[in-house]
Amino acid sequence: MKEIILLKSGEIALKGLNRTSFEELLVRNLRRRLRGLGDFSFSQAQSTTYVTPPSGVDMEDVLEYVGKLFGVAAYTRACAVEKSFDALAAAAPVYLKDQLSRARTFKVEAKRSDKSFPMKSPEICRELGAVLLEHFPHLKVDVNSPEVLVMAEVREHAAYLHAGQTPGAGGLPVGSSGKGTLLISGGIDSPVAGWMMARRGIELTAVHFESPPYTSERAREKVLMLLGKLVPWCGYIRCHVVPLTRVQEIIRDTCPEEYFTLLLRRFMMRLAERAARADGCGALITGESVGQVASQTMAALGVTDAAVSLPVFRPLIGMDKLEIIARARQIDTYETSILPYEDCCTVFTPRHPRTRPQLSTVEDIESRLAVQELEDEAFSGMHDVLVRG
Ligand code: ATP
Ligand code: MG
Repeated sequence: MKEIILLKSGEIALKGLNRTSFEELLVRNLRRRLRGLGDFSFSQAQSTTYVTPPSGVDMEDVLEYVGKLFGVAAYTRACAVEKSFDALAAAAPVYLKDQLSRARTFKVEAKRSDKSFPMKSPEICRELGAVLLEHFPHLKVDVNSPEVLVMAEVREHAAYLHAGQTPGAGGLPVGSSGKGTLLISGGIDSPVAGWMMARRGIELTAVHFESPPYTSERAREKVLMLLGKLVPWCGYIRCHVVPLTRVQEIIRDTCPEEYFTLLLRRFMMRLAERAARADGCGALITGESVGQVASQTMAALGVTDAAVSLPVFRPLIGMDKLEIIARARQIDTYETSILPYEDCCTVFTPRHPRTRPQLSTVEDIESRLAVQELEDEAFSGMHDVLVRG
């Protein structure tokens, strides 16, 4: 029996004239992900993508990738048969045997986009329902909330049978909203922030700041591991690792303690912006959330934003920590995030950070630092790692 996968591309369908390019991007992303599993073929019609696997491939492996593909509203494996009622009637009891033997109630729904098919949808439902009742006499029809929804779709090239759909990863195909630079620490929040923006179609590059010897090799590896967890959703991610030791030492030695974190964050933003522009990225992405820590009060975020001119996307801004943790668990970054390595933000932390900083005061302090020189030095110490998962 020939099995394929159907992908329904929900929100993409709303995109009017852009729809074709969105769907092409969806297929391109999927093709890349599946490359290691063999030679797949793809076709598209009516907001549905048909993925035909090579023979011998493990469908569970394929579904694992498909479930992480942004732009997919729902997906299902389906059996492809010749376009005749007899073929549907012969295949259905065999292909759906497992689900139907276990269920108590079912319903058949039919879709007929090929209007030349001799039976209309209600007739297909009725007749196929009768065939299934004959094979599985314990079943009852429940039109309102069936345990198994049997779908028979008669389309252009073939007819397809499946038993309902699984919700997909949602969102938009990665790349359809341009590129953005994720500021990633080893914490819980920033990987989630990157995942959320990737789901909105943003292709990610990443910047990570470290302060050796105050931060360790293992702290950096943890960050690369976190990015690796995002790769199945986002594709390969290039990470720029930037040394901030000198910047931090200068701040520690010459600036008022309550401004340490804020000054550091502005350096981070400016350096990230520089990397972003070099990568052709149109936004910075951070894991900040209002009120979470002193550097995330409204005033502090304002002072941070004022350091850059690119838009700063903070998808977690209105989320509670528990919601962020739930998402981190779902995308499997949580266990890595809680490994106990230091971040450069936690080196030289002030005892009483400013929660209502004035931009003019911060700018005044910065005017006494050799900001440009320090940035050039940090930037020239940057090195890149391509994370492939
Ligand atoms: P996270 O859990 O993501 O570390 P956090 O709540 O600990 O966030 P901060 O440490 O204040 O908050 O950092 C706020 C944001 O700044 C992070 O979400 C991240 O986007 C960015 N950031 C912090 N430290 C680094 C770093 N070492 N390299 C790159 N970005 C960083
Ligand atoms: Mg942090």
